[in-house]
Amino acid sequence: MIDFNELIDNYLQREVFPRSVGRYWPSEAGGCLRKTWFTFRIPKEVEKPLSRIFEMGNRVHDLIADVIQSEKNKHVKLIDRELPVKIQRPEYIVSGKIDDLILVVVDGTKHLVEVKSVKYLPGEPRSEHLMQLQLYMHSTEVHNGIMLYVKKDDFQIKQFEVNYDEKSVRDILARFDKLHKHLVEDKIPGPEAKLIEEKNWMCSFCPYVKECDEAGGVLRDDDA
Ligand code: SF4
Repeated sequence: MIDFNELIDNYLQREVFPRSVGRYWPSEAGGCLRKTWFTFRIPKEVEKPLSRIFEMGNRVHDLIADVIQSEKNKHVKLIDRELPVKIQRPEYIVSGKIDDLILVVVDGTKHLVEVKSVKYLPGEPRSEHLMQLQLYMHSTEVHNGIMLYVKKDDFQIKQFEVNYDEKSVRDILARFDKLHKHLVEDKIPGPEAKLIEEKNWMCSFCPYVKECDEAGGVLRDDDA
């Protein structure tokens, strides 16, 4: 008998490579700083259930790109369905190919669309998603953003227009500054997601809960 669960897990399995201090991913902008710090110090494979969630996100993103590209939707034009983001800072670089990002032209104006697949449509865009989109708008110099939530089970949509905000970008880059400093000084950041209520949910998906509990600690001013 074929075990299809095993086939899917085999298909989604990715090799884990050690990370280099000084190279960060744009998608890490809004995550827990301590968790990102751990990915450098104790690299771990993405857990199987999480790999499946990520893959579902990729499939939903492809659907939205196909919808925009379709001949049936001639009033919108797809320019790119996956964009490189690169921000060079004096001491480090934030870069990566962003696979949940789509560049479209609507009424002659370019828009960056960040696609997120979700179980429930949110009332407001999530702050960590907004941080990512601000960073993407900064890097691509496309300053009109759309945060698009797609419900996984029936493709219902909720969308939010997002304007570029220089202050948000400065705050996000300051977070990367802190991450870099903590890594260079080999100093663990505070347990940000544990201590900030709106980020508590991140701990449920974190592979470093045990290490985080053992490290203890509080959130200092220079942590978040
Ligand atoms: S358990 Fe929570 S606070 Fe600790 S590293 Fe993971 S996400 Fe951050």
